[in-house]
Amino acid sequence: MINRATPQSAVTLHDIYLARARIAGQAVRTPLVKSVSLSERFEAEVYLKLETLQPSGAFKLRGALNAIAALDEATLERGVTTASTGNHGRAVAWAASRLGARAIICVSGLVPANKVAAIEALGAEVRTVGRSQDDAFVEARRLVAEEGMTLIEPFDDPLIVAGQGTIGLELMEDVPELDRVLIGLSGGGLLGGIGRAVRGINPRVRVTGVSMMYGAAMIESLANGHPVEVEEVETLADSLGGGIGLDNRCTWSLVREVMSDHHQVSERAIAAAMVHFLEVEKMLVEGAAVVGLAALEEHAIDIRGEKVALIVSGNGVDMATWQRARGMTDT
Ligand SMILES: *Cc1c(COP(=O)(O)O)cnc(C)c1O
Repeated sequence: MINRATPQSAVTLHDIYLARARIAGQAVRTPLVKSVSLSERFEAEVYLKLETLQPSGAFKLRGALNAIAALDEATLERGVTTASTGNHGRAVAWAASRLGARAIICVSGLVPANKVAAIEALGAEVRTVGRSQDDAFVEARRLVAEEGMTLIEPFDDPLIVAGQGTIGLELMEDVPELDRVLIGLSGGGLLGGIGRAVRGINPRVRVTGVSMMYGAAMIESLANGHPVEVEEVETLADSLGGGIGLDNRCTWSLVREVMSDHHQVSERAIAAAMVHFLEVEKMLVEGAAVVGLAALEEHAIDIRGEKVALIVSGNGVDMATWQRARGMTDT
């Protein structure tokens, strides 16, 4: 008999239900609101999943809470670490402080003081080392090797993926006849988790991934048939930057399995979508959170008559980035 046991790196619908039980009462069960203007514009029912309402400002709290809550007591006592200054670092800081674990977020000396203060305000220690993100990672790995801390991965871990997947369970409860979900795609924890959940419940739901035009590591890696490195390019969707890891063990194969189609969007389309969210939806959100709308506009995806959810994934946008977006839409 062939052994068909599920590999360790795979994420099942059951894992996502377990994650939901672990993070209940800590992560917010976010509202799904219908956008009147987008529903009219696309002749569809367009819903917005407001992950911007998580206490850390983005969905990454779900995965971080699930990964930290799953640690045994002795491991939890030695604390957790990571090397992100963005939404993941904020999520780990907030989740660890909520679960009573020490957290050290490693950052490079180039990270601005206001970002450092924001992470400290969420309850974590910030350790400043070196001049680059790589230097910060070296320190995080040293804390793991020498002080027994646990590294909380940004996406490539089954517990992280399962945590993000809880969004999919909520979508299917709120709109049981959902036809399609559009999801910003970077490392693939968000899309992999949601995709596993919604298609586990209804295999006919379309899962559409959206990335920026340049530096989209997952899309390049799928096209090449294995994980590849890409050059990082400045983008309004800065939370979608970064690689997927050449030794990716979980998200590359999961995204390949659950994603129905994918699109890449221009900076101009991202900028226009950010402005739409502020002016019409009255929400200040980051570029990565609006790529679904950018794709509907730029690629004229036909969703007439469909029930569609856009994952409004985070609100981590600073004034300089916002001004840049605003500038691109002035003609
Ligand atoms: C991290 C992030 C994403 C992408 O998530 P992945 O799991 O890396 O694909 C999208 N939007 C925001 C706001 C994020 O912080």
